Amino acid sequence: MASSWDTLSAPRLAKLQDDLVRDQVQHVVHPFSPYWKERFTELGKDPATVDGVTAVATLPAVGERDVSPNGDPAGMATLVVRATESGFALHAQGPTLRRALRLRLTRPEDYRQLVEHDTKPTSYVWSGLGFRYPVASTRADLDVVARAGARLWAVLGLTADDALLSAVPVASTTEHVGLYFAAMAAGAPALFPGAAVADVVAAARLASPTVLAVPAASAGAVLAEVLEAGASLDRLRKVLLVGAPSEDERAAAAAALVGHDVVVLAVHAPSGARVLWGECPDGGAGAGFHTYPDIDLVQLVDPETVEPVAEGGELVLTQLGLRGTALLRWRTGDVSGSRIDPAQCPGCRRTVPRVRQLRRGALVLHSDDGRALDLRAVAGALSGRTDLADWRVLVGGRSRDGRGQVLVHFAANGDPGEAAVGAAADIRTLAGLLPTQLVAVGSEDVALLDGERLTRRILRRH
Ligand SMILES: [Zn+2]
Repeated sequence: MASSWDTLSAPRLAKLQDDLVRDQVQHVVHPFSPYWKERFTELGKDPATVDGVTAVATLPAVGERDVSPNGDPAGMATLVVRATESGFALHAQGPTLRRALRLRLTRPEDYRQLVEHDTKPTSYVWSGLGFRYPVASTRADLDVVARAGARLWAVLGLTADDALLSAVPVASTTEHVGLYFAAMAAGAPALFPGAAVADVVAAARLASPTVLAVPAASAGAVLAEVLEAGASLDRLRKVLLVGAPSEDERAAAAAALVGHDVVVLAVHAPSGARVLWGECPDGGAGAGFHTYPDIDLVQLVDPETVEPVAEGGELVLTQLGLRGTALLRWRTGDVSGSRIDPAQCPGCRRTVPRVRQLRRGALVLHSDDGRALDLRAVAGALSGRTDLADWRVLVGGRSRDGRGQVLVHFAANGDPGEAAVGAAADIRTLAGLLPTQLVAVGSEDVALLDGERLTRRILRRH
């Protein structure tokens, strides 16, 4: 499978994902993740019925606030898979199981090591939109991250002859760890001096890079500064924008690179993910991010109702074959304006699902003082009120960082003043922060409000 992950036919890919979903739910997540064990009981759902891609979509998608409603990172520990030595033998698969059973009888210490390799969380990256929480990985998971890294390198059209210089902050994040493992797995030299421009320039003098990674949000400014500071970039062929860039961010990067013969590609990990996806050079931004169908299943939901949708919605991730923090039907806060494209990539011909028109973290806004406003919670609060005939959330202000005003326009069935007070109280309870304003309007006026659609009733204005 290692050689054919990106060339499987549609029926084989469907069969592979069905098998991996079934194993993940029935032998990893349900038996060993306390949150999910309880969740299946609450839903009255027999894990045996979750036998593939279609069935898993019947599980309601959840996000960080569902697992830890008060935003305490410690609450996220209930997601983590915790296998006991006896439980492991019950749920291990195929060759691992046969080896485990043999060792359990003959060499108990080796058996324990095998169980730990597969199930003991040993390293963490920090993730999250509304609050930061650790995502746990086992030793075996890091092998998967490295394998995904080698694939990313290939998707980006890089080889062992490339040399990476990363201006991404050095921290326990999926972005930094993903790039680190990608270069390592590809056998390519890589320098990680941190985000300070002077350090990036100094590192470029030490080893002239062929590929430069910069955070998408600040790419234009960072590239301009690095070039102005006289970094030696004669060998530079590619620039990676880390974190699905907006059109403005791509344009800013391109503007800074005028006169340089480089290809700009994006890499991205949705919130909670442990691997980075990339764009291919021939397909570019239009072809979208190439996913790894045997590592993650990507689906879409309507962010207001959490119902599955085929096109345009919030990205929901189900991790396959990974232990540690069990993300099943995980709400990422990323929005795609398109469908998950199953067709062969027009650029590189890989047959992997691709994610196009992605807006990263679009459903969670951050104020200047660092507090988060989760638009999913706002929508949930408004949808739950029977005294509102209709509503729209208008997100305004600077599109680059999502800061600015959040206006709620609503039409009340009865007294608008009472409806506003009730809606404000619900929003504060569920979202933790109040929007900038609540504005009562007529129901015909609600329908006339326009803006770029993030969801059906959440609009963005520039
Ligand atoms: Zn491609």
